[in-house]
Amino acid sequence: MERTLSIIKPDAVKRGLIGEVVKRLEQNQLNIVAMKMIHMTKDQAKGFYAVHQERPFFESLTDFMISGPAVVMVLEGDNVIARYRELMGATNYEEAAEGTIRREFATDIEKNVVHGSDASETAAFEISYFFNSFEIVN
Ligand code: ATP
Ligand code: MG
Repeated sequence: MERTLSIIKPDAVKRGLIGEVVKRLEQNQLNIVAMKMIHMTKDQAKGFYAVHQERPFFESLTDFMISGPAVVMVLEGDNVIARYRELMGATNYEEAAEGTIRREFATDIEKNVVHGSDASETAAFEISYFFNSFEIVN
């Protein structure tokens, strides 16, 4: 069993896509074991995306992530990190495979609807960044 962190980003919450994303998670056996709505502060967004702090898009990315509420979730299942990345599609929606969440709903390389952890170490860091153990169901 593996866990990963999912975020429905502010662009998707604003556009009424929470249900659409959650439906796809449920249909693909990406089990939700924790879920809440948050509105990140700038410091919180910067800490979350600290790996990207030297990138030219860091300032814009962290502004986007605080532009409205987001939904953070913990997903659990076999090989869930890779399976959820596959369901999301490539970072750039124009390169994402047909039928993926980003291909269908993203409007921009930055405003790409969802986030998913990319490895088990980053998943552990990202889950503990938003959830304590009492907030994750067994
Ligand atoms: P995420 O970490 O959000 O799941 P990812 O792992 O597919 O996405 P990363 O390379 O980690 O992609 O980039 C983090 C986020 O930064 C992207 O999801 C996107 O919102 C934004 N981003 C990435 N590359 C660019 C870019 N070239 N220009 C603008 N924004 C970008
Ligand atoms: Mg990433």
